Amino acid sequence: MKLKHFYILILMLLSTSSFAQKWTKANESTTYPEKVNRPKLVVGMVVDQMRWDYLYRYYDRYSKGGFKRLINEGFSAENTLISYTPTVTACGHASIYTGSVPAINGIIGNNWFDPQIGRDVYCVEDKNVKTVGSNSNGGLMSPKNLMVTTITDELRMATNFRSKVISISIKDRGAILPGGHTANGSFWYDDVSGNFITSTHYMTELPTWVEQFNAQKWPNKFLEKDWHTLYPIESYTNSTIDDKPYEGLFKGEKTPTFPHLFKQYVDKKYSMVASMPYGNTLTLEMGKSAISGEKLGQLGNTDFLAISLSSTDYVGHQFGPNSIEVEDTYLRLDKDLEAFFLYLDKTVGKGNYLFFLTADHGATHVPNFSKEHKLPGKGLATRKFKIDLDSLILKKFKVKSAIFTLMNNQVIFDVDAIHEANADYNQIKQLCIDYLIKQDGILNAVDVKNLNNTSIPNELKTKLINGYNARRSGDIYYILDAGWYPSLGTGTGHSAWNPYDSHIPAVFMGWGVKSGKTNKEYYMSDIAPTISALLHIQEPSGSIGKVITELIKH
Ligand SMILES: [Zn+2]
Repeated sequence: MKLKHFYILILMLLSTSSFAQKWTKANESTTYPEKVNRPKLVVGMVVDQMRWDYLYRYYDRYSKGGFKRLINEGFSAENTLISYTPTVTACGHASIYTGSVPAINGIIGNNWFDPQIGRDVYCVEDKNVKTVGSNSNGGLMSPKNLMVTTITDELRMATNFRSKVISISIKDRGAILPGGHTANGSFWYDDVSGNFITSTHYMTELPTWVEQFNAQKWPNKFLEKDWHTLYPIESYTNSTIDDKPYEGLFKGEKTPTFPHLFKQYVDKKYSMVASMPYGNTLTLEMGKSAISGEKLGQLGNTDFLAISLSSTDYVGHQFGPNSIEVEDTYLRLDKDLEAFFLYLDKTVGKGNYLFFLTADHGATHVPNFSKEHKLPGKGLATRKFKIDLDSLILKKFKVKSAIFTLMNNQVIFDVDAIHEANADYNQIKQLCIDYLIKQDGILNAVDVKNLNNTSIPNELKTKLINGYNARRSGDIYYILDAGWYPSLGTGTGHSAWNPYDSHIPAVFMGWGVKSGKTNKEYYMSDIAPTISALLHIQEPSGSIGKVITELIKH
């Protein structure tokens, strides 16, 4: 062998061996996960009536570890909207957890009128189950009216029911709808006994940890404290002065002002706990008990804890978005949130849980607050609508009771009675539309079955169609003018399509989530598909949402 050839051979050997080395290294470094990558625990939190702007309205006063941690460590979908009407509690909780809309999931209101049985139906009523944990009727509830699966159902099915799902709220519907059909336990507050209860849909007796929690009598401790502002009252410069005639009174009060005294109701008025910020503290304490009692996120499966905080809604209704009471409620919630995150860090571990916070709807300004500041919006008297319409229809079409009721901004007709009287349903509908359009505070009234022939913006059409369920909704929908709300007295509400009712926070944090934000428009129904994508599980059965891809780490 010539020396030259020898060198070539050596070079070839070297290069092939280095190639082989490289190849082995590449193969070694490509490690595939042995198991499906999932967090230990998912915590979903709905803050009832939290307008999106509360994230920033009170930002400066939030502590580092609460909302500030959530916004800065997590990912905020800043322009998340509700894509249907009415924007109320039951629809919100159903839509968040099903990735769907009332047209599909069947939850078209907190209540609706069922023509087949001729009465109002409550969204989670169920006469075939019994209360567990109290002698009251508060537990005659189940998710049977929810026509599709939830993200929590899908997680249960994806792991052959090894994953545990627990849902908790003061409101029955705030617990039941997020827990879905297959929750291991949904617990809500019984204001007769002051206990968390459930129904035989889930179990026949309360778990020991719930009994132990109830035995601690937290509601009494909270009533004992009364409600004083967290900080000196002069520091609440983001709100109106305390004494405003358009704020609601607690029982026995002469003015709607601090301190609100509850001590006198200890052992008597458990319902009052829901209407003070301590109702949120109570719910979060119950959440902590669920984590320790059920060992959520600690048994090797991905578990799900769904919490809904209702007191924000009760306080908001009574006092309105510009009140010191609402500001104080959020500052207290911020502290509770900080403590709750620290609890999760300690028990499940930072980075091991996926957390999201959103709201079921926002709120309109108190109509009399708008009036005071020369803003558009007033209280609206809707009671006379039915009386007027009944007499107009009787006069012109000789039909005695063509309308069952007006509900959720809809006119619900007795179509059978109209047909029996040989009257023209379309003409009756047109008469109603013509009447409603003339009323103060009504922007428009439309036949939802015939929206293609109606001149309203597409955005509104979509929201009305998404809220219309063929079996459960009324055919005429009346859209209120901006800022108007059907209330003439104190306080406020929500249910409209407008941003104040439909722009909600949607912030994700922890396992699998990048830090950041987007101002792209997303919808409430995108939350469930996003959680599905993160967990690698099937989307709920009525899901029409899309994944918020920007927030996913990998
Ligand atoms: Zn409400």
